Amino acid sequence: MTSERVHDVLRNGEPGSSVEIRGWLRTARHAKGLSFLDVSDGSCMNGLQVVAPPELPNFEREVRALTTGCAVRVGGELVESPGKGQRVELRAAEIEVIGTTGDDYPLQKKRHSFEFLRTIAHLRPRTNTIGAVWRVRNVASRAIHDFFQQRGFLWLHAPILTAADAEGAGEMFELADSEAFFGRPTRLTVSGQLEAEIGALSHTHVYTFGPTFRAENSNTSRHLSEFWMVEPEMAFCDLDGDAALAEEFLKAVIGTVLEECADDMAFFNERIEKGIVETLEHIVETPFERMSYTEAVAVLEQSGQDFEYPVRWGVDLQSEHERYLTEEHVKRPLVVTDYPAEIKAFYMYANADDKTVRAMDVLVPRIGEIIGGSQREHRVDVLERRMVAHGLDAEAYWWYLDLRRHGGAPHAGFGLGFERLIQFVTGMANIRDVIPFPRVPGSVEF
Ligand code: ATP
Ligand code: MN
Repeated sequence: MTSERVHDVLRNGEPGSSVEIRGWLRTARHAKGLSFLDVSDGSCMNGLQVVAPPELPNFEREVRALTTGCAVRVGGELVESPGKGQRVELRAAEIEVIGTTGDDYPLQKKRHSFEFLRTIAHLRPRTNTIGAVWRVRNVASRAIHDFFQQRGFLWLHAPILTAADAEGAGEMFELADSEAFFGRPTRLTVSGQLEAEIGALSHTHVYTFGPTFRAENSNTSRHLSEFWMVEPEMAFCDLDGDAALAEEFLKAVIGTVLEECADDMAFFNERIEKGIVETLEHIVETPFERMSYTEAVAVLEQSGQDFEYPVRWGVDLQSEHERYLTEEHVKRPLVVTDYPAEIKAFYMYANADDKTVRAMDVLVPRIGEIIGGSQREHRVDVLERRMVAHGLDAEAYWWYLDLRRHGGAPHAGFGLGFERLIQFVTGMANIRDVIPFPRVPGSVEF
């Protein structure tokens, strides 16, 4: 008898076969002469129902004392379940109590607020919601790797420590004493893009997938101080190719989650965000809308909406604007392109109008910006001028410029905030609940 995962037992277990499982009790119901234990091991949404008969040698002494949260090993025979909602249940022949709980175990059957669960981040993955979030993260991560690997992209491991003030994407965490160690100020990376560009100009198709850090003091439901980013970069590619990849990519990853996390998604659909499965199915099937920034501003100006931040050509779009465009105006994901140069990073390809750059943001309902990308400026002279205009020290970026001098080529890429994607597919309102151990201003406990 080898230990099995609850997921496999529930799916493939045949009545009459012997199984052994290990896990934690989600509930323990002690009825007259029988105990019913719901055992979960995190492998799927449902636990396995264990029926404990009084013949067990430790029935009175141990089994009757089991409570929610205890760790157990159960061996026995699978039988057809008379109850509804499950195909099989486990008739215990043996129950070993591996770990008991104190009576202050905080996860009782009632619903807890997500704020409270954040204070017990060591136990919250045992809840339905956070357990499902972790599984969706896992499947989405694999789907991301599969998507790129199947298309010949090379996974490039971008560094976490960097001397570059990368692109001014956000405030950076500076490392104390790094100057003595490295000989110059060193920070935590805000993006692997500049390194991904090196990869694209040697391997044509690369992507990074790793943690990035931003010291921006924004206490919003969409910002973390540490978050994971996916950054593909492609040589011999323009903004249209970039936008096409972003669309194909989002659809593929969402499609895989819908397919492989059906139980978890049914839970989110019922308990977290009604209708989310249908919305996502619709997104997978529908072409994304395209619109230039200039058109988007015209739409917003004519919308008759009373925005908190007034909109006019030249301002950065706020979340309320982004959400109006995608939720109300086009009612589907929207790629906005060609933003004013002033509000975008120095490395974006300058359009001939001398006012806009080949940038794109992918906007989705409920979240707003989920992806930011661009075609990169590969003309050395233009790039140098932009760096000066942005007040950057061109010498510190010597290699970035050098890359263009030696076999430079058009290239493009984007960055997806992985937690924004997980928020989008699960419907979870706060980004702190879709990363296992959130780091935000004032909070780094677990
Ligand atoms: P925002 O305007 O929402 O702060 P940004 O313009 O700073 O985003 P980029 O620098 O383009 O974002 O980063 C690429 C992607 O990384 C974004 O589209 C978003 O999905 C994600 N992202 C950016 N900042 C954060 C953050 N603090 N926490 C989580 N995800 C983030
Ligand atoms: Mn930001």
